[in-house]
This record gives sequence, C-alpha cells and structure tokens, in this order.
Amino acid sequence: MIIHTPEDGSRSNWAKRRKSLQVRVRDMYIGSDNPVAVQSMTNTDTGDVTATVAQILELYKAGSELVRFTVQNKRMAEAVPLIRKALDDLGYNVPLIGDFHYNGHQLLKEVPACAEALDKYRINPGNVGFGDKHDDNFKTMIDVAKDYDKPVRIGVNWGSLDQTVLTKLMDENIRSKAPKSAEEITVDAVVESAVQSVNKAIEYGLAPNKIIVSTKISEVPYMVQAYEKLAPRIEQPLHLGLTEAGLGSKGVAASSAALSLLLTKGIGDTIRVSLTPVPGSSRAEEVTVCRQILQSLDIRHFSPLVSSCPGCGRTTSTVFQEMAQELTEYLQLRMPEWKAGGYDGVEEMKVAVMGCVVNGPGESKRAQIGISLPGSGENPSCLIYEDGKHVASVKAAEARQAFKQHLERYVQTHYSKQAKEKQAAQN
Ligand code: SF4
Repeated sequence: MIIHTPEDGSRSNWAKRRKSLQVRVRDMYIGSDNPVAVQSMTNTDTGDVTATVAQILELYKAGSELVRFTVQNKRMAEAVPLIRKALDDLGYNVPLIGDFHYNGHQLLKEVPACAEALDKYRINPGNVGFGDKHDDNFKTMIDVAKDYDKPVRIGVNWGSLDQTVLTKLMDENIRSKAPKSAEEITVDAVVESAVQSVNKAIEYGLAPNKIIVSTKISEVPYMVQAYEKLAPRIEQPLHLGLTEAGLGSKGVAASSAALSLLLTKGIGDTIRVSLTPVPGSSRAEEVTVCRQILQSLDIRHFSPLVSSCPGCGRTTSTVFQEMAQELTEYLQLRMPEWKAGGYDGVEEMKVAVMGCVVNGPGESKRAQIGISLPGSGENPSCLIYEDGKHVASVKAAEARQAFKQHLERYVQTHYSKQAKEKQAAQN
C-alpha cells in the first residue's frame, strides 16, 4: 500500500488520495490536496431566516465547513440573501449551498439575489424535469452558475434517479448474454447519470473545476460500488454520503462503514453523514460524527482523542468512566483557546484514561499522556504517564485534578509557541 500523506501529516497507511481538480467554494477549496471537508444540512424551514441562521451557526460552530439548505419555493429563495446578510453581519463566512429539486431553474432565474447569495448550487439530474424539459432546465441552472461564477454539485441519488438513463440500461441488460441484477444496473445507472451530467455541464460551458459530484445510495455496499465505479471516470472532486443513513447508532455505524471503505481507498473530498435526528437531539451530531470518522481514520485531526477502556469486572467503580467523560469535555472546552493561542498540533495529542493495570499502563504509554486507574484489589494509586514514561503516582481522590494539571503542563511544554521555538533552537 502507498503511504498516505494528507494535509496534516497523517500517520495512516491508506491508499493515496485520488487525484481530482480543485474547486473553489466561497473562500475554501475542495478536492486536490485540500483537507477532506465536512458538510451538513439544515432541517429548518429555509424561509424562517432566524431559525435557519441559528441552525447554520450551530452546525458551523460544531465544525461544518459548508452548510446546505433546501430552496424549495420562492419564499425560501427570497430568504437566502437575508440569511447570507445575517451571517455576514455576525462575521461568519460559512459557505452556503442551495439544494434544488424540480424548480431550481425557475427559482434561480426568478430570484437573482438568491443565485448571487449562494456559494454552490446542488443539482439533482433526476429531478430537473422530464423529457425535453430535462436538458433545458439543466442548461438553465448551468447558465446561472456560469453567470454568477458559482460551482455546482451534481448530486445523483438512486431514490430519484434519472429514469431515462435507468430504462436504457435496463433494456440493454435484458438483451445481454450475462444480465446483471436490478441493483447492479441501478448502480450503473447512478454512475452513468453522474458522468453524463458532468459532460453535459461542461458542454454547456461550465468549467470542469466548477463541478463536484456525488452518487448517494442508502445501502452501504451499493453506495461504495457506485463511488468506486465513478472515481476513475471523472476528474471532479467527490462528495460522499449515504442518502439516508438512518437513526442513532444505525446511522452512525452505516455511515462510518461506508465512508471508511471509500476514504481509506483515497476516494472522497467532502463528506456528510445524513443522520435522522433523534427527536430533541442536536442537528450538529452529524457534524461530530463526520469529524470523528476523519479523526479515527487519522485523515484529519480536530481535537485530542481520549482513549478509554470499556471497563469490566476488574473495575467495579464508575470513577474511570466519569473521568473519561470529564476529560473529553475538558479537552473540548480547552481546544478553542489552545487553537487561538497557536498551540499547533495539540489536536493530534492522544490521551488515555484506563480502568486497571491489565491494559492501563500499556495504553497510557502509547498515548502522549495517560492515566491508569486502580482496578478492584489493586494498590489504590493512579499512574500517570507522559511520552511513554511513568512520571507520577497519585491517590485516587486527587487523580482528576492532578491529571488535568499534568495535561496543562504537557500542552505548554509540547505545543506552545515557546516550546516549539525551544525545540527548533535545539535541532
Ligand atoms: S483495562 Fe482493566 S478495567 Fe479496563 S477493560 Fe481492560 S481489564 Fe477491564
């Protein structure tokens, strides 16, 4: 396998990132060697400017680097410039993507301020119109993108697939000597629809580096197959996601499986995890999952990772579970300040919180900094390790406070500007 050396010095051994064009979306770049970007989508009524701005900010602050919302009717289209203005007034430069189905060609023409305010248009080739109207409507949207110098995402979904493409492939399949299954043909049709749409957009005058492509499917094996087939056929960046990942742990597991299979093969330039939100939960959960997938794969790093054991009969107290949770929250709280203070690389720090002597010292030594708590029947002292060395033993009652102090000192001595200057002077 080729060593993968992505944007932030990953140590993983994944396949080399697929080569793609670089697409500019507002002030950020997608594709080529740029970091795999995290996207999300609102579920507010886009016409409700206050609610939509609030949710965009929630998603953006959680780490969504681009935010998409539906633009379904004229009222929503007219709200788009107001949403942009409200974000600009608050000082947030978040790129906004308009999601169009059926009437995008009309809305973008009827409400020029919407076309201007958006940073990217999502076009679903299966929903731009039927028969003769299909190409005309698609061309209208491409023309608007050209006029306003905006990129588009050609987003094919198997739930709303262009029936002309599907029917043609089905007919050919019937006449084939070795017919494929209906699912295989559908995957082929999804890919074909994407490739044909990219070629059409370029034929209509859109620059090749103004296009991002997705082929979303709700079942992991077929979704992976679609992207694997698409990747070598076009040079545009790919946006990855399952169409409908599902609710709770099912959605997280399915998305992690699908995205990991592709990302470790070097396929994927932006990602979204389309979770069905549990009622009352934060929409930003989908952003957290995206970031955790990228960080778990060692592709990007956002905040220090806490490794903690699951616990077992060797540790009957909940002390280490509480400590792992408290430390995770503490690190999230401290991260913005460390980032703002120039503590570069602190997001890659690995922290271990372990329940007992069986794996505690070993895992703690592998982390930059770790603590091994005493299990049942062990000497009641907690062992703290830094860079693989045992540096302190503290009583269980003092462990939380003592470990935080060690952590703060470790960050100062390893990631602060002064520490970096000192290291550079020594080298
Ligand atoms: S480290 Fe100890 S407490 Fe944690 S799971 Fe392993 S044996 Fe159990």
